[in-house]
Amino acid sequence: MLMSVAKGVAVGMEIGGGQTTVALIDQNGCVQERYVARTLRGRPAVATFDPYLRAIDMMLQHAREHEMEVLGIGVSVPGSVDSLTRRPLQVPILPSLNNFPIGDLLESRYQLPIHVHADVDAAVLGEHRFGAGKTHQRLLFLTVNAVVGASLVVDGQLERSGRQYVGHVCHVPIASTGPRCSCGKCGCINTLISIEAVKKMVQRALRRGEETTLTQRFLNHEVFSHQLLAEEAVRGDNLALRIYRELARWLVEAITRYIGLFEPNIFILGGGVLYGGDLLLAQIRTLIGDRPPSPLWQMIEVVPACLGGDVALIGSVAPFALL
Ligand SMILES: [Zn+2]
Repeated sequence: MLMSVAKGVAVGMEIGGGQTTVALIDQNGCVQERYVARTLRGRPAVATFDPYLRAIDMMLQHAREHEMEVLGIGVSVPGSVDSLTRRPLQVPILPSLNNFPIGDLLESRYQLPIHVHADVDAAVLGEHRFGAGKTHQRLLFLTVNAVVGASLVVDGQLERSGRQYVGHVCHVPIASTGPRCSCGKCGCINTLISIEAVKKMVQRALRRGEETTLTQRFLNHEVFSHQLLAEEAVRGDNLALRIYRELARWLVEAITRYIGLFEPNIFILGGGVLYGGDLLLAQIRTLIGDRPPSPLWQMIEVVPACLGGDVALIGSVAPFALL
């Protein structure tokens, strides 16, 4: 029987629109225990949060029973967060949580250090501490799901909005023309490769009468997503493959722009856009290879996120990882 030694863990919580995961995560970023609570949508904030609190209670109980020392609680919110007040600012899928005092509530209930992050920030911290960016000083993370998110970590710290351009990485224009973005500018990456932008590419192709297996997916009333597009690209659908090339082209434009501005050592790409395996990254690398050689490109690696679907959950506790 092994000697039982108190080991440091933290409670991570990833709030999601369908479900919320609460987990005990160790110092290596490994999930030791997890509980999935259903998210009740359309409820007031207190009622929305109640199942999450019960899940945290269970995790703390488990930690006590296994003589683990809980160092703190980290929360990942699917939206934007005021890092000073530790309140969500905008949570599009759970608007009742807007301005809800998550940090203060958890701190007074559990008497533990609390960190509340936007999901993309949690993800970049996770990749920096435990994943693909472990040994890098300046790390830029771009996640492409229904919307596009981006974050920069420098020397282990998130670069906050208001300093340089950061926090608004997604709103650095990539194209001089292009659809108008919610920020008022044209050509932001979000308007070029978000799921809405991809849907428009597909619609234009369908209007031109192009044949595609995507049509059958629409007839099945499936929700259009990067995953669905990737599945058809992997099966060899010409339209899906062409859209992937277009996405790769915009991503290389974005990477070029970001490298010039932020000088990252590593560029990590994550999110549903990677469902196609190496398809997209291979195209990105080919396009980069076709460019004239430059010292800028030799300084940077472009890699996929490696913590997978748990990246924001694991990253939410990155601040509690002991050096
Ligand atoms: Zn914008």
